[in-house]
Amino acid sequence: MALGNNKTLCSICNKNKITYSCDGCSQRFCLLDLTEHRQILNNELHHIAGEYNEFKETINEQRQNPQNSSVIKQIDQWERNSIEKIQQTAKDWKEIVTESLQTYINDIEKTFNDLNEQIKQFQIENEFNEMDLSCLKNQLTEITEQLNNSSNISMQQNRQLIINDISIISLEKKIER
Ligand SMILES: [Zn+2]
Ligand SMILES: [Zn+2]
Repeated sequence: MALGNNKTLCSICNKNKITYSCDGCSQRFCLLDLTEHRQILNNELHHIAGEYNEFKETINEQRQNPQNSSVIKQIDQWERNSIEKIQQTAKDWKEIVTESLQTYINDIEKTFNDLNEQIKQFQIENEFNEMDLSCLKNQLTEITEQLNNSSNISMQQNRQLIINDISIISLEKKIER
């Protein structure tokens, strides 16, 4: 066998040299280029290891800050919206009831003023008898009862919800509370 016959083409420098095959890419390299080839693979492994470390950081971050999860944020949003809706509904009803109570009291006050006016007339004119007195007493009892009964307006709770309940679904199964 002639000297130098064991040489083949290096896939990098394209020269006939003693070459070594790489099982991974099935290319042949001279020693110099094989060293460099290994270095490139090493660099790539280093880069991938870096990406794995970043992923590990992401896992730790998500474990430490579950409130950053998009589902938690959605629940927060639902909570805020629901509270807002309930507060608005309560505010609306309180305005309506307040107005209604004021009208009710105004009506009673009007009756009272009329009766009071009559008392003044009686005092001025000195023209009244037992029947008038009895009538005045009865009327006062009546408007006193009316005023005390302003709680004849009352609240009752409906079965119907003004907010929507939520459920949380994972791809595998519904999550129960
Ligand atoms: Zn080479
Ligand atoms: Zn290779």
